[in-house]
Amino acid sequence: MSLGDLNQEGFKSGFIALIGRPNVGKSTFINKFIGEKIAITSPIAQTTRNRLKAILTNENSQIIFVDTPGIHKPHHLLGERLVQSAKRSIGEVDAVLAIFEASHSPGRGDAFILNLLRKLKIPVIVALNKWDLLELSQFKEREKEYLDFFEGTNWSVFRCSAFTGQGCRELISEIEKKLPVGPQLYPSHMTCDHPEKFLMAEFIREQVLINTREEVPHSVAVSIDKIQDIHSKGKSNKNLRLGILATICVEKKSQKGILIGKGGTMLKKIGQDSRLQIQTLINGNVYLELFVKVVPDWRSKSSRLNEFGYEGI
Ligand code: GDP
Ligand code: MG
Repeated sequence: MSLGDLNQEGFKSGFIALIGRPNVGKSTFINKFIGEKIAITSPIAQTTRNRLKAILTNENSQIIFVDTPGIHKPHHLLGERLVQSAKRSIGEVDAVLAIFEASHSPGRGDAFILNLLRKLKIPVIVALNKWDLLELSQFKEREKEYLDFFEGTNWSVFRCSAFTGQGCRELISEIEKKLPVGPQLYPSHMTCDHPEKFLMAEFIREQVLINTREEVPHSVAVSIDKIQDIHSKGKSNKNLRLGILATICVEKKSQKGILIGKGGTMLKKIGQDSRLQIQTLINGNVYLELFVKVVPDWRSKSSRLNEFGYEGI
């Protein structure tokens, strides 16, 4: 639809918060729904730091998904801010998509989320995610465990896989049903409310997490220092590359060593992998140069958190 149809009769729009424990697949769902990579995902919990809005515009609706950091027990200042941010999101949305990991039975952490959501007056839609990890013989039993767990609520529950896409269409149409009637809030082509510069930094951070695994945990922040066009061999667009200078900040000297790796191999790999992601994002060639800097204790210092863009979360 075009912007001229903004006030189309019966059009629905609204904000949906994705709520769930770390690692249940919130960011993977966002990417699947939107059909392109917006949120960074990784097997390491707590990957999502900033609140990211992803926008899905259909003929009759516009759904704005709010990706939230997973709800968990905070261990340091950054953790506390993340949890506050997730809780605040719940207060600002029209409905909640609650995601549980169906690959295991509901546990204590899930009960914490359940109690938080029970108090809400807005609709809750439940995705039992990672259903693809279950054996056929487990289906009935696991579904029953969760339905018993949700007893007393009027939530709609779906078996899903953010990975394969199973159940995603059904989730979207259920969300559309629960949305209030309202105008289109963002232009149709817009899929994300963050500038590309932010996404570039996030893609680099993702490759750091994936390549270094637990060795360099959450003490990583990435800043994009410079972006400029590089022309080689004349001024034709064919030879145009986007030059990006970025700094990866870690808390300890030892982490800097891990990030750089033997003879620079690790940093080279991180650079190559994130360059490919950024090239897809901007649909063009990229020259990426990465630096590593030690900034002791940045996560515990409020001023530093703001510097790295965690001000408003
Ligand atoms: P978040 O912390 O809730 O945002 O979780 P992520 O979206 O980052 O996902 C955490 C991990 O679970 C990643 O390694 C994903 O690839 C994986 N994952 C997410 N959804 C599914 C799913 O439906 N099936 C399987 N097998 N893995 C999934
Ligand atoms: Mg996430």
